Amino acid sequence: MQLVWFRNDLRTLDNTALYYACKRGQPVTAVVAITPEQWQSHGDAPVKQSLYYRSLLTLKSSLAQLNIPLKVIETANFTGLPQQILDLSLQLGCTAIHMNRHYEWNERQCEEELARLAVQAGIEIQRYTDQVFHEPGSVLTGKGEYYTVFTPFKKNIWPTLTQQPPQSYPVPPACPASAVTADGIPCWLEADEAGLRADLWPAGEEEAIRRLELFVERKLPLYGQLRDIPSQPGTSTLSPYLALGIISPRTCLHYALSRLPEARAHQGAEAWINELIWRDFYKHILVGFPRVSKHRAFKQDTEALAWRHSDSDLQRWQQGQTGYPLVDAAMRQLNQTGWMHNRLRMVTAMFLSKHLLLDWRLGEAYFMSKLVDGDLAANNGGWQWSASTGTDAAPYFRIFNPVSQSEKFDPEGRFIRRFVPELAHLDNKTIHSPWLAGKVANYPAPMVDHKFARQRVLDSFQALKEIS
Ligand code: FAD
Repeated sequence: MQLVWFRNDLRTLDNTALYYACKRGQPVTAVVAITPEQWQSHGDAPVKQSLYYRSLLTLKSSLAQLNIPLKVIETANFTGLPQQILDLSLQLGCTAIHMNRHYEWNERQCEEELARLAVQAGIEIQRYTDQVFHEPGSVLTGKGEYYTVFTPFKKNIWPTLTQQPPQSYPVPPACPASAVTADGIPCWLEADEAGLRADLWPAGEEEAIRRLELFVERKLPLYGQLRDIPSQPGTSTLSPYLALGIISPRTCLHYALSRLPEARAHQGAEAWINELIWRDFYKHILVGFPRVSKHRAFKQDTEALAWRHSDSDLQRWQQGQTGYPLVDAAMRQLNQTGWMHNRLRMVTAMFLSKHLLLDWRLGEAYFMSKLVDGDLAANNGGWQWSASTGTDAAPYFRIFNPVSQSEKFDPEGRFIRRFVPELAHLDNKTIHSPWLAGKVANYPAPMVDHKFARQRVLDSFQALKEIS
């Protein structure tokens, strides 16, 4: 008997651990752990947990078709989980435990502990690279160090990634049946149905493949032009499915590569693969610089930044009441849908950390508590990049002006009108800076002046230089 431990890899297609476990030609059992306290301590959003729960149900039935029963371990957190997985494998008479590697600090500790216990018990442990194209630690600079800047990292891997991409694995054939019975999957969610947005984020790998095919077929050629326009559905919206491993990044890569040779789609495919590499880059950062998993800044000198403290400012930002229409529309998109467009994640993150000079960790946690695609590596990477405490090669004076961003990326105010109906009646110019029209009913005046805020944050970063 072989045991496969499923975590954020809720799929049967191109699942390395599953594929190799099945290849042994023996009966296979799958196991998943339900750890609500752990997810709470990671701040995982209810909307993300709902997608996880619903995708577990679909995974269970896909596995059943392969004669693989899914066992469930219910435990509050990771403490004791490795022992419970080991106990299960001993009880089932498993000779090997297979798992895809995860890169967050707690997940890695849990994996290590299981490996240690399994070796002691004489059970084989197999860990696979699956979430990323290259194992962290295998892509290093000439000096043998982790890359700290995206572009050289990308340049290093691009030729091999596009010419000899990592292999994908098919859904394995059905395994020999066993007498093991599957467990029921308990629902641990307490949030009310409406907040879980099952309508926007249907579960399961069929849905993920459907999105991928639709995107690659129809939107990829224009991705380069549309990816920054939040009113257009120009991106794949695959992030929740990638974050939970409902689809594999290799599958995404292979679909994009199939269109790379076409003149019409080349640019779009290149730009999209670039984003998939950003995803990998931040996972490498997580492993290379474990402090970022522990709420510490990537650029250590920025720990001394004099952040402001204001609960009311934080709340206005969270609720989309800053008085800057694009920022507010974006925050309301997040609150209502569990997802926010990438351009707007940068705009809102810079607004919090630079205009309001509030600690990026507050924003990171808020995003995590709302995002359906919440992913420690990408979220932390994006926040630290935006706050200039992270891997951005540009210096700290990259400060987006929320009005010019709005004029540039939502020129007709379509996105703003959708999420900030109070402003829908304004013309295409005034909608970006409604204060020009005087007081707008039910909409606040800007909570901070751009020029003033810009100078304040520049002074704060300058003060850091003087300390060091
Ligand atoms: P597409 O444009 O279709 O891109 C394809 C895939 O590439 C995405 O699904 C995602 O997996 C990956 N990707 C794209 N951009 C990035 C990026 N900048 N960094 C890492 N991976 C990327 N992404 C998350 O998946 N989870 C997060 O918690 C998250 N938090 C973020 C926080 C901030 C402050 C910022 C600036 C970015 C964050 N991102 C996060 C990255 C990015 O915004 C989302 O991945 C993207 O908006 C998802 O939409 P999509 O699937 O349509 O992307």
